[in-house]
Formats: sequence, structure tokens, C-alpha cells
Amino acid sequence: MVVGAGPAGSSAAESLVKKGFKTILLEKKNFSQSKVCGGLLPASVLKEFDVPLKVILRRLKGYRVYLPNNETVIFNFKDEGATTDRNLLDSFLANRAQDAGAELIGNAQAIDVKIERAKAKVAYKKAGKIHEVSSQVVIAADGIGSKMAMKILGNIYEKRNLALGYQVNFPILDDSSYFDVFISETIGYGLGWLSPKLETATLGVGIGLYRSKTIKKIFYDHISERRQILAEKIDLNREISREVAVLPLDKFVSKAYSDRFLIVGDAALLVNPFSGDGIYYALKSGRMAADTVEKAYERDSFSEESLKDYQILLEREFEDVFDFCLKVHKRFYKYPERLAFIVKDSKGMYEFLEDCIWSKTRKKVSLRQKIGLDIAYSIIRLNQALRAFSRSSTIFRDHHYASIGHSDIH
Ligand SMILES: Cc1cc2nc3c(=O)[nH]c(=O)nc-3n(C[C@H](O)[C@H](O)[C@H](O)COP(=O)(O)OP(=O)(O)OC[C@H]3O[C@@H](n4cnc5c(N)ncnc54)[C@H](O)[C@@H]3O)c2cc1C
Repeated sequence: MVVGAGPAGSSAAESLVKKGFKTILLEKKNFSQSKVCGGLLPASVLKEFDVPLKVILRRLKGYRVYLPNNETVIFNFKDEGATTDRNLLDSFLANRAQDAGAELIGNAQAIDVKIERAKAKVAYKKAGKIHEVSSQVVIAADGIGSKMAMKILGNIYEKRNLALGYQVNFPILDDSSYFDVFISETIGYGLGWLSPKLETATLGVGIGLYRSKTIKKIFYDHISERRQILAEKIDLNREISREVAVLPLDKFVSKAYSDRFLIVGDAALLVNPFSGDGIYYALKSGRMAADTVEKAYERDSFSEESLKDYQILLEREFEDVFDFCLKVHKRFYKYPERLAFIVKDSKGMYEFLEDCIWSKTRKKVSLRQKIGLDIAYSIIRLNQALRAFSRSSTIFRDHHYASIGHSDIH
């Protein structure tokens, strides 16, 4: 039984049926409902998960970062990425799982999960009636704040480690093939983005959940500040739809399994804490969960001990990069000038983005990257300390680090 037909759940269900397991895929919504997401698909998603052209709205060459002073830095991907709409992607993935043999039950909300010695049981509500299904194992793919995960594993979601995204779709005016990122004092501890789709583009800001009350104001202040640039890209007078949603930017999940139970995708906090991309990790963790279930079936044991393999797979594949990205997040995101510094002045940044985040080719972060990050951080801290000590100092004025920061020392 798989609960939730987002990328993680559909990927798990498709892999399970392909391995010969009878699988039910439960989804509480219908797929015409839109889902809040920038819709950026790195090349790794397109390559590893056979995403067809019909799901792609725009091919992307790379990233264009707008720094606080409107200066831009461009990162070109080695392999093209793309953008999609999530209702398009999610319905395609769920249908593909169904075509492979999964039983997809839509408009069905799981309301309870129980783990018994010989079976797991999920109760769900559909058309006002309660149903119960027994299964060897339950895969919880019901997204961030998963009710299933909280019932079995306790509250693994710390509010202070959640971020909030606010997005508005506008008609698109240009033929951009770049995903735009905005770093600014107005947004503060967070980012802005403009994701070009077919006839629309999604303008969004993401900030810590603790600042949720101010997000709308931040969004419109961001528009005011960047109006000149944005007005060339989107029709700011015509808002098509607005959306808001939460995403995890947390430390690596320490336990994603229990007796007859696994969590995947956002439910398992698998969003890259630097980039905020989660679709790849959702798809990949779904496959890993299915591989683990297959092994457990061969051992004839769905105990916690037997399903621990899943945690090992997650850690081997993602933990090092996630830990590094969280460090970057914590040290640099908090202050736009620090983020601008690593984007603009850190030589290893492009390589890092490309290997760890977009191509996903690197499972381990090199010592060089780690030392490079420490050096970049020390330079910024030193610069900020000097500026705080003597604002009138001219020592760094002509140096290129001079654009960084005022007196924010932490
Ligand atoms: C503002 C924002 C922008 C983002 N931009 C990007 C981006 O550009 N690129 C990227 O890679 N990632 C992005 N992400 C992250 C990405 O959206 C998630 O990581 C991804 O959706 C995770 O997939 P999932 O299948 O784990 O969860 P979800 O996509 O959340 O799917 C969970 C599914 O479970 C269903 N469900 C929930 N509860 C139940 C229940 N009780 N019973 C039955 N079904 C249930 C839900 O309806 C949903 O369909 C963004 C996130 C946000 C918030």
C-alpha cells in the first residue's frame, strides 16, 4: 500500500508493480488540482526517470541569479533541465504506475495506519465511506507533515526547519530559457524565483515558516523592487493564480523506517536544503523503498531490522550532499550578501551546483569543496567583523569583497 500519489508515491508504486507486487496507490486529491512548485526539473530527473516531452513545458539552459545590486550571474547546466506543471507531471507519473499495474484510488484520503504483527492496515475515506486495506507494508508518500509518518514515527517535522513558498502565476512575455533566482535584502533570509513555463511563468518567494505572516508583503515588495526587470518578463497586471505551500529544509532524516513502514519524498524530508528541489529525491527514494521491500520479501521479514536497508540506501546516496547543502544554507542563506558572495566569488560554486544538485552525479562532497566553503565563510566573517569594527575603514573599499555585508556578525 502506498499513500499519496505525488512523485514519491507514484515512483514507489510503479517500481513495486514492476517487481511483481500487488500495489494500491491512494491519493486524496484529483489530479486537475494544481500543486505548489517551481516546476524545475533538473537534467537528472529527465534522464533517470524517463520524463517524456509531453510533460515538459520549457527546456532550460541554466540558472540566472540576480544579485542585490541587479548584477546577474549565469550558471549553464551541462545537460539541459526543464520546467513542468505539477498537475501535468503528477498525473503522468500516477497514470504510468497505473498502466504498469498499480491500483490507483483517487479522491481517497488515508485517515489511519496501524501496524500489527502480521499485517499493516490503512483506513481511508472515499465518498463519505470508510474503507480498510491490509498490506504487508505501507509506504507513506503523503508529503511534508505526513500524518502517516507522525502516527508511526512521531513528529519528525520541526516547525523551525520548514520553509514557506508563495507563488503567483503570470502570463509570460519573453522566451527565456533560464530559471531566474533573486537574492535581495527585501526577501532577506530566503530566495525569489521566476520559473518560465509555456504561456505562463511562476514568480515565487521562499522564506522560513517563522516569517509566514509577512510573506505576502515580502512577495509584493520584491515585485516593487525588481519591477523593471520583471515587467520585461511577465505581465505583472494579470495574476492568474496564487498558491502557498510548505517545504522542508531540514537536517537529514535519521529514521525513515519502522516495522512494515517506510517514508519517502517530502514525508522523509528529502528536499535539498540549498536548492529546495525535491522531485528528484522523491522519485529516487520511491524506487529505493521498492527495492527495500523486494529484499524484505525475499527474506520473508518486514520487521524494522529488515527494512533498515532503506535508511542505509538513503544515507549512502544523499546524506553527504544534504549535510553539505545544509551547512551552505545555514551559513550563507541568512544574509543575502553572503549568498551573493558565494554565487559571485566562489570559484567552486558552479562545479558544486552542477555535480551535486543538477546532475546528481556526486554522492560525496570532496574535501576541496568542504575546505573551499570554510575559506569562503571565513573571508566573509572576517570582512563583516572588520566592517563592524570600523565602518569608515577603507581597507577593503576597493576590494571586490567590499560589496558584501554590513555589520551582521553571527
Ligand atoms: C514553493 C515550492 C516550490 C518548489 N519548487 C520545486 C522545484 O522547482 N523543483 C523541485 O524539484 N522541487 C520543488 N519543490 C519541492 C517539491 O514540490 C517536493 O519535494 C515534491 O513535491 C515531493 O514529492 P512527494 O511525492 O514526496 O510529495 P507531494 O508532491 O507533496 O505528494 C504527496 C501526495 O500525497 C497526497 N496525500 C497527502 N495526504 C494524503 C492522505 N492522507 N491520503 C491520501 N493522499 C494524501 C497529496 O495530495 C499529494 O498528492 C518545491 C516546493 C515548494 C513548496
